[in-house]
Amino acid sequence: MIPIIDSKRQYASIQNEVEKEVINVMRSGSYILGKHNKAFEQEMADFIGVKYSVALNSGTDALHLALRALDIGAGDEVITVAFTFVATTEAIGIVGATPVFVDINPDTFNMDANLIEEKITPKTKAILPVHLYGQPCDMDKIMEIAKKHNLYVIEDCCQAIGAEFKGKKVGSFGDIGCYSFYPTKNLGTMGDGGLAVTNSETLKNRMIALRNHGGAVRYYHDEIGVNSRLDEIQAAILRVKLNYINDWNKKRREHAAFYNELFKDCKDIETPKEIDNVYAVYHQYTVKVPNRDEVHKMLQENGIGAMIYYPVPLHLQKVHSHLNLKEGLLPHTEHDTKLVLSLPMFAEITEEEQRTVAKTLIECVAKCKSAMTAV
Ligand SMILES: *Cc1c(COP(=O)(O)O)cnc(C)c1O
Repeated sequence: MIPIIDSKRQYASIQNEVEKEVINVMRSGSYILGKHNKAFEQEMADFIGVKYSVALNSGTDALHLALRALDIGAGDEVITVAFTFVATTEAIGIVGATPVFVDINPDTFNMDANLIEEKITPKTKAILPVHLYGQPCDMDKIMEIAKKHNLYVIEDCCQAIGAEFKGKKVGSFGDIGCYSFYPTKNLGTMGDGGLAVTNSETLKNRMIALRNHGGAVRYYHDEIGVNSRLDEIQAAILRVKLNYINDWNKKRREHAAFYNELFKDCKDIETPKEIDNVYAVYHQYTVKVPNRDEVHKMLQENGIGAMIYYPVPLHLQKVHSHLNLKEGLLPHTEHDTKLVLSLPMFAEITEEEQRTVAKTLIECVAKCKSAMTAV
């Protein structure tokens, strides 16, 4: 079995360092909002190239509290994509705002910036691009539109830590950038975790209050907040792992290039594309194949842990049924949802494993194709 991600293999490579730090936290008696939290926030701000960061309990909370900090709520519209994980629009729903969907560019699976302006109304408050699969969006165009129409930008970087657009890290373009440290993310911890980055001191202070029951001073509460703190054990683990993220992301890029090479003679497998001047971090390596569901099933039967991210676009999910959005609204999103297949991808994957994945996929695609033409 070749899994889509092998967290145990990564852990084995850093086990001694991580266990030492975790034991120190356990012995310290300081478990919440301690020295690791503070140090990690500074290290993350430096890494992303922004002034401030606020450590939180999840990527979902980062999106939610970013919207709260910008006073986005009932009656407001937020322009985003339906080709993403549900947390993106869930956060918009939590604050009572309405997601407005734009279609994707089928080359990158990211928001097609050319389609944003036609969706802007007097209620639009923000644009929420998602750097899906670790591929940066075209931030030049998105920021230009935001500036022109006086809109906030919240970047969903949950799959794209360390990714760059024109030499600048994603998350540093908009008003707030949101990250997740869910175990399977490129920088994953051993539980839940998240973080928001910003250059605004006001927004930073607001999120610091919101994450801790809506008050900057203990037992004095200015507004309804939440409990969304990153615990010291997770912060300590993340501080160890942050030292490796550049190396891990570089390896993912090398593995992506190797997959591209292995698939280059197979016309039926469409490999991922990057726009110019980006450093994509391949949270997922996602191809498009015909007869995807049959191919997916066959791969699993052959021990390849391929996955479909995501099987139903968000505008057609029950959770958003009150918006009354119909099939046909987002042609590229709907079309690509039926074709995408993510292959095993993690820093520690071996060349031999990649060869096995590629060979098996090429065979499965050919078999399904001949089965379909025979019918
Ligand atoms: C993982 C993810 C989130 C949510 O992060 P959690 O830490 O699981 O809450 C949000 N958006 C995207 C695109 C994600 O991949």
